[in-house]
Amino acid sequence: EQTLNQLLVEMDGFESNEGVVIIAATNRPDVLDPAILRPGRFDRRVMIPRPDLLGREAILGVHTRKVPLGPQVDLEVLARATPGMAGADLENLVNEAALIAARVDKSQVEMDDFETAREKVLMGAERRSLVMSEKDLRNTAFHEAGHALVTAKLKGEKDPLHKVTIIPRGRALGMTMQLPTEDRYAMTQTYAENQIAILMGGRIAEDMIFGEVTTGAGNDIERATDLARKMVCEWGMSEAMGPLSYGQKNGEVFLGRDFNQSSDYSQNTADKIDAEVRRIVHEQHEIARNILDEHRTILDKMAEALLTYETIDKSDIDTLLGGGDIERAKPEKKLKTREQLEEERSKKQN
Ligand code: ZN
Repeated sequence: EQTLNQLLVEMDGFESNEGVVIIAATNRPDVLDPAILRPGRFDRRVMIPRPDLLGREAILGVHTRKVPLGPQVDLEVLARATPGMAGADLENLVNEAALIAARVDKSQVEMDDFETAREKVLMGAERRSLVMSEKDLRNTAFHEAGHALVTAKLKGEKDPLHKVTIIPRGRALGMTMQLPTEDRYAMTQTYAENQIAILMGGRIAEDMIFGEVTTGAGNDIERATDLARKMVCEWGMSEAMGPLSYGQKNGEVFLGRDFNQSSDYSQNTADKIDAEVRRIVHEQHEIARNILDEHRTILDKMAEALLTYETIDKSDIDTLLGGGDIERAKPEKKLKTREQLEEERSKKQN
């Protein structure tokens, strides 16, 4: 504020014919003094959102200028795979990729270094040291296979599958990755509904196979509920509630982040909203369950493939969906179960 006040004082000294243009940037437009925004001072406002596909490609171009790149590195593909990343994220991605390449003494940064870096940035580093029990691994394999199979079989708009893994990353025990084909600025209702069904898939698979669910599905449930609530309260995607906005967002302290919501509706309306949210989630839950019931053999095969290969990619998934078997050399297991570790330890002692 002091800077701005000083600026205002200085600016008043300019004559209108001096041809001086002053540009300033802030991420707190909400706290600016109205005096600053008056005509003749800062009277044009340009919102700079996160970069789109072309923007990301250009930004990657800037940050890779001094990085020796392998011949197959395609910045457009990278830009495509990094929707929602801001300039600083992309810079970080390039740095990570360079570090990963340097660690194995490569003279050039290659595409798979970028791929590893992207996964690390998006989902945290792999935690191969995390020791899970055989049971946890099986649970995770079926959970992720559930997400993946629902993703593959759902009709209508969705992001295609990219890869599925049971190698723990960050706080997640496994991961089903979808790769958007384009930047998504608006979600259709079908897309939102499909997303909920996909989120439900993991939990349903666990329930089908083991007859009980684990806490691993907690985050999925939270995200699905959140999405359903937004469909009802913000996007007018519930016929029963109509195209109205429920719950006024006030105090937008930061751009694009909503703070506490105050309710502007009656308890009766609140009950109806809850019922609608429940209906949407339940409907998608049923759709996901039907898919998994119908394709149970593929679900089993996919989970087994995950336990064998730990990570399966799009072509593996296509093979399984086509009723085939993955035919590639079985990799050396990197994930060790608690049982295996104990066995190794007791062998050493003998
Ligand atoms: Zn999940």
